[in-house]
Amino acid sequence: MIELPIERQVLDKGWVRLEECMGGDAAVIRGARICYQSTAKSPQADERLIRRLMAAEPKHNTVFEHAVFRFGVKCPIFVARQWMRHRIGSFNEKSLRYCAADREYYVPDEEDASAVALYRQQMEASFDVYEQLLAAGWKKERARGVLGLAVYTEFIWTVNAWSLMNWLQKRLDPAAQWEHSQYAEAVLEIYLQVMPITATAFKELVLKR
Ligand SMILES: Cc1cc2nc3c(=O)[nH]c(=O)nc-3n(C[C@H](O)[C@H](O)[C@H](O)COP(=O)(O)OP(=O)(O)OC[C@H]3O[C@@H](n4cnc5c(N)ncnc54)[C@H](O)[C@@H]3O)c2cc1C
Repeated sequence: MIELPIERQVLDKGWVRLEECMGGDAAVIRGARICYQSTAKSPQADERLIRRLMAAEPKHNTVFEHAVFRFGVKCPIFVARQWMRHRIGSFNEKSLRYCAADREYYVPDEEDASAVALYRQQMEASFDVYEQLLAAGWKKERARGVLGLAVYTEFIWTVNAWSLMNWLQKRLDPAAQWEHSQYAEAVLEIYLQVMPITATAFKELVLKR
């Protein structure tokens, strides 16, 4: 029995949290075995089947779609923008039309202290203006225009295991932005915990780790 939520801290103030999951490795097995009307003769046979499916070309991808997750995420807006390009999944995000922005933003761990100070100064100034505009009676939806992309946002993401692996593969690639890949690393850890057979097969056979 897996105890939820499972949470990992990411970047300086972010996190990713598995709130719900359905199906797990058993759902993949069910999806695969119904095709052949077969039953497992041993747990090792199920594991071998999943590894075969993971390596198969062309992909028998739909069997992985029966396992579903809902994650909660707190990340900088620029990471969320990239994340939401992944269309196969469902998102709902905290609205800065309806909620006032918290004075919370990502600060990169850069060595050049004076550049970091400049960055902070700009972010703080943008929040000062934001608050002044709200105080002057501006709507939140308009005043938010002065805020930067490093401001933290929150969203929930419901996604099946196939689409999750597509996201992981793309966002763990060296070409992906480092900040986004930190979220992918955290999600991979959680994936390995809740779907150990499928996630291990994915890690070894697809990610080649
Ligand atoms: C390193 C990197 C840099 C990027 N840079 C940019 C950039 O500069 N600008 C930019 O706009 N985007 C950029 N992207 C986003 C990228 O183009 C994809 O939108 C994003 O990675 C989502 O991938 P996806 O389409 O596979 O995922 P999903 O949208 O989740 O789709 C999953 C799969 O479903 C299928 N699918 C979904 N929708 C369709 C459709 N309409 N037609 C056919 N098949 C579909 C495809 O097989 C797809 O792989 C970048 C991504 C990465 C990883």
